[in-house]
Amino acid sequence: MNVLVINAGSSSLKYQLFDMKTENILAKGNCDRIGLDGHLKHNPVSNGKPVFDSDIALPTHAEAISAVIEKLTSDDYGVIGSLSEINAVGHRTVHGGRKFFGSALINDEVIEVLEDCIRLAPLHIPANLMGINACKEAMPNVPMVAVFDTAFHHTIPESAYIYPIPYKYYEENDIRRYGFHGTSHRYVSDIAIKHMGGKAEGTKIITCHLGNGSSLAAIKDGKSIDTTMGVTPLEGIPMGTRCGSVDPSLVDVISSIENTSIKDTMDILNKKSGVLGIYGKSSDFRDIETAAGVDLDNGDLTDTANTDKRATLALDVFAYQVAKFIGSYIVALGGLDALIFTAGIGENSPFIRRAICEKLGGVGIHIDVRKNAVRASEFLDVTGEGSKAKVYAIPTNEELVIARDTMEIIK
Ligand code: ADP
Repeated sequence: MNVLVINAGSSSLKYQLFDMKTENILAKGNCDRIGLDGHLKHNPVSNGKPVFDSDIALPTHAEAISAVIEKLTSDDYGVIGSLSEINAVGHRTVHGGRKFFGSALINDEVIEVLEDCIRLAPLHIPANLMGINACKEAMPNVPMVAVFDTAFHHTIPESAYIYPIPYKYYEENDIRRYGFHGTSHRYVSDIAIKHMGGKAEGTKIITCHLGNGSSLAAIKDGKSIDTTMGVTPLEGIPMGTRCGSVDPSLVDVISSIENTSIKDTMDILNKKSGVLGIYGKSSDFRDIETAAGVDLDNGDLTDTANTDKRATLALDVFAYQVAKFIGSYIVALGGLDALIFTAGIGENSPFIRRAICEKLGGVGIHIDVRKNAVRASEFLDVTGEGSKAKVYAIPTNEELVIARDTMEIIK
């Protein structure tokens, strides 16, 4: 049984083909610059055939899916004999609105709900729909499943998801906290629970998904009870280019300074803020840490003489805000058993893990600096002596969760 996992963005489409008997990846790749010129990187990981990495015309998502299928089945780069060996397709879908609390077989109702959710995620849902439609066209008889980023957070209580604004916006317009990165929070918290004895009941966990987009979740008894992202993925901690939680009046203030429309001001808060806004030169944590004099391999500060002050400040602001939210989630959970770091920064940056944990000493959380001084290519326990909670770095695998959910649903 092979499952193709699709993650469609507005100009990109990432894919992985899983053999679900072994859960091994047969091939993976990504189409970039769809609608512009087009580029495809395809890696047939399972059989040693060469990697295809070239510019190729991709005017729409439909051509991108055709190109992916052609590569998956080709003599030179393929891993399967024909299209019939793709048994199901799982789509990463950003928003399930108030209707979907779990993954769902894609049918007309799901499409309708997704179309309705465009008002809640105007940047993401149209791209997800393009991916779904392109696959439907290319593989009309293959069952498809939508796995929603928001679904894991459906257990958040009213007191955490209702915004203190006129209630009619919730009742009439579905405005509430939804939260995102649900598949990642779920995957890494499940792994931590296994390491802590296997029983979800009674566990108190905070997961920090720190990537280009970042969010934290408070997870009690294996269920999300709060998360930092809101009705959109702009709320919460500062991110690569997104501001996170700021005074909402800034929209008015910046619009007045720049003489910009609300839409253009939101662009500033979404694309020019976060650590990029503070540092000014890059949103990539590798660049920022390097400019701040950090040794990327072990997280030590090596060069303190020639550091860029704004790079140091961007890292300080980031670590402070993450630590502050962790503190508030310890209150929400009534304690903490495990703190988990995941995604590009959480897995690969010993410096950021340490900078955050150094601010948590007052609540009894400590890391072992030596154990922490590596990248987490697999489960990594960095708990320090005397720490009241375990501290883990766990590589996330959202694609595998999507493939597993897809199997479960089509069964
Ligand atoms: P996305 O949200 O796009 O999936 P990722 O989870 O891949 O993002 O995370 C990307 C971030 O991870 C980038 O800011 C990148 O700089 C950071 N990152 C990757 N490797 C390292 C590293 N060795 N040290 C610090 N940051 C890293």
